[in-house]
Amino acid sequence: YQAKRGRRGTTVYDPGTDQHTVGQLAMVTDLRRALENDEFVLHYQPKVSLADLKVTSVEALVRWQHPTRGLLPPGEFLPVLERSGLMQPLTRWVLREAVQQAASWRRAGMPLQVAVNISPRSLLEDDLPARVLAVLRGAELPASLLQLEVTETAVMTNPERAAFVLTQLQARGVEVAIDDFGAGYTSLALLRILPITALKIDSSLVSQMLDHAADEAVTQAVIDLAHRLGFSVTAEGVETDALLDRLAALNCDQAQGYVVSAPLPPAAFEGWLTDWRARTSSTAGRSGTPP
Ligand code: C2E
Ligand code: MG
Ligand code: MG
Ligand code: MG
Repeated sequence: YQAKRGRRGTTVYDPGTDQHTVGQLAMVTDLRRALENDEFVLHYQPKVSLADLKVTSVEALVRWQHPTRGLLPPGEFLPVLERSGLMQPLTRWVLREAVQQAASWRRAGMPLQVAVNISPRSLLEDDLPARVLAVLRGAELPASLLQLEVTETAVMTNPERAAFVLTQLQARGVEVAIDDFGAGYTSLALLRILPITALKIDSSLVSQMLDHAADEAVTQAVIDLAHRLGFSVTAEGVETDALLDRLAALNCDQAQGYVVSAPLPPAAFEGWLTDWRARTSSTAGRSGTPP
């Protein structure tokens, strides 16, 4: 299949060629097999509280351990999955896997909220709330330890339906976050009607903040607006300490990004967490900042 470099250097599927039909069909066959053979894996990326650098939750990010092509990032296969109607089985797998992982960490004395990305299609499925609750029950995980991340685009497809589905989930204690906020066309009106508890500001807005006053102004305004609406705010794609400090100064609640940790396989994440806790518990403030 044809791929090209997309925004932020991710590989995106390019539907603009003729060969794509054949290539895509092959990939769909490949993906079906992958689902049957359990070829997907989840990596986990922490979100840290900017006030005390404590790890508040982890986001589950899917990768495809392809038998010949190696570990593939979601940008390489999610668009094909979403279009070919195979997203539903993947979403089910990711939910089960992430919830079981969170339950197992909790049993090991490491209670962490896990965040799962829900695709636009999966968000519109009738049985999503029932499925999510069944998975939580099966793993004996409290609903508050699960967060669902949905993009503004997903919600905009059908705002009423999305609000209905998310309200059911939130009523049972599942947290809902808007992902990639500020990356697309946002309707501020949407923020009034959606039952959300958190907002993730897209890295495209945050990453240029130190060099572009306008980006910082918008970020500041988004943080203030979110707080007025009672949401917590996470900044995505934070790569430097300088940015981490600036976000803390703007009262942003949490940050996620390579400066803290890249997404890691479960065992590596556990090791990282132990190190991180040892490093950050000795100082009251952020590393490099005097207490
Ligand atoms: P997202 O949910 O906005 O996830 C953040 C993406 O930014 C992840 O890419 C993450 O690895 C990357 N990232 C994290 N920190 C940094 C940083 O400091 N700098 C930069 N440049 N990038 C950073 P990834 O894992 O390739 O995932 C891409 C997108 O694929 C996700 O964006 C999400 O929309 C989607 N996705 C991932 N896993 C799943 C899944 O299980 N289900 C669904 N439906 N979508 C998923
Ligand atoms: Mg996300
Ligand atoms: Mg995001
Ligand atoms: Mg994003």
